Amino acid sequence: MDLPIRRLLRPRDPEEAVELLARYPGALPVAGGTDLVVQLRSGKVSAETLVDLGGVGLEGIAEGAEGLVIGAATTMDAIAADGRIRAGWPALAQAASQVGAWPIQCRATLGGNLANASPAADTAPPLLIANAQLRLLSSRGTRLVPLAEFFLGPGRSVRTPEEIILSVTLPPRTVPAHATLYERFTKVGPRREQIISVVSLAARLVVAGDGSVGEVALAVGAVAPTPRRARRAEAVLAGRRLTGPVRRDAIAALQEELAPIDDVRAPAWYRRVAAAVLLDRFLAEVAGG
Ligand SMILES: Cc1cc2nc3c(=O)[nH]c(=O)nc-3n(C[C@H](O)[C@H](O)[C@H](O)COP(=O)(O)OP(=O)(O)OC[C@H]3O[C@@H](n4cnc5c(N)ncnc54)[C@H](O)[C@@H]3O)c2cc1C
Repeated sequence: MDLPIRRLLRPRDPEEAVELLARYPGALPVAGGTDLVVQLRSGKVSAETLVDLGGVGLEGIAEGAEGLVIGAATTMDAIAADGRIRAGWPALAQAASQVGAWPIQCRATLGGNLANASPAADTAPPLLIANAQLRLLSSRGTRLVPLAEFFLGPGRSVRTPEEIILSVTLPPRTVPAHATLYERFTKVGPRREQIISVVSLAARLVVAGDGSVGEVALAVGAVAPTPRRARRAEAVLAGRRLTGPVRRDAIAALQEELAPIDDVRAPAWYRRVAAAVLLDRFLAEVAGG
C-alpha cells in the first residue's frame, strides 16, 4: 500500500528542518520511520508532508562539558554498541539492544522513541534514572527540557509540532570509591523479541561499603500514562540495607504508586505483578540472594 504522502522534504540542517515544519502546518518529522510509517499506513496518523531528519547531522555521540550528548537521530544499534554508554549508562545500552530485533535497531532512533511519547518507550526509563535532558529546536531557538517533564500522557509531550528533538544529554555521574554500582534494564512482554513492553524497569543502586544504599533511582514503563520515576519505592530504599523487610516494603511501595491500565497486551493486574517481580529480582541480585 502506498503511503498517503504528497511531499517528502530533505533539509540539510536542523534549522532548515524546523523552518519547513513551521512553513507546512501539519508536516511531521521522520527519522527511522519504524513508528511513523506503521502509523501512516494504519491511518492512525495522517500527514501530507514529511520532513526527513536523516540528512541534518543529528547522528552521533559526543562528550561535552555538560555530559554525554546523544544526537536525536542516533540509532539504537549505535547506542547499544557505544563503549561509554555501556560503561556509564548500562541500562540505556541494554534497553537499546532490546528495541525490536536488530534490523529495527539499525533504523530506530532515540529521538523517534521519545517523540512518540509512548508509555512503553524502552529508552525512557533508563534515561529517567540518568536525569537526562532533551534539547529541543524550533524556529524560535532552542530550549532544554528535563525528560522527567517531557511526557504529558500517552502520545503527548511538551514538544510543539514545530519543534524537533536535537539531542539527549546524560549528566556525568560517578560512583564513590568502595561503593558498588548495580544498574539494569529489564522488560516483560508476550515473547522474547520484537515486543512492545508490557512492563519495563530501569534500576540503579549504588551500594556503599557498609551495605547501605547510597544512591537509588528506579523508573518504570508501560504501567502509567507516561514512563515515570518510582519515587516512593526509591524513598523506601534510600540509606537502608537490603534486608528482606526493606525489599518487601519497596515492592509494596512500587505497587501502590503504579497506575496501569488494561489493554490488548495485558490486564492491569498482570502489569502490577510483573513490575513487582522485576524489582524483586533486581533487589535479590543486588542483595546476593
Ligand atoms: C517491529 C517493531 C518492533 C518494535 N519494538 C519496539 C520495542 O521493543 N521497544 C520500543 O520502545 N519501541 C519499539 N518499536 C517502536 C519504534 O521502533 C521505536 O519507537 C523507534 O525508536 C522510533 O524511532 P524512529 O526513528 O523509527 O521514529 P520515526 O518512526 O521516524 O518517528 C516516530 C515519531 O517521532 C517523531 N520524530 C522522530 N524523530 C524526531 C525528532 N528528532 N524530533 C521530533 N520528533 C521526531 C516522528 O514525527 C514520529 O511522530 C518497534 C517498532 C516496530 C516496527
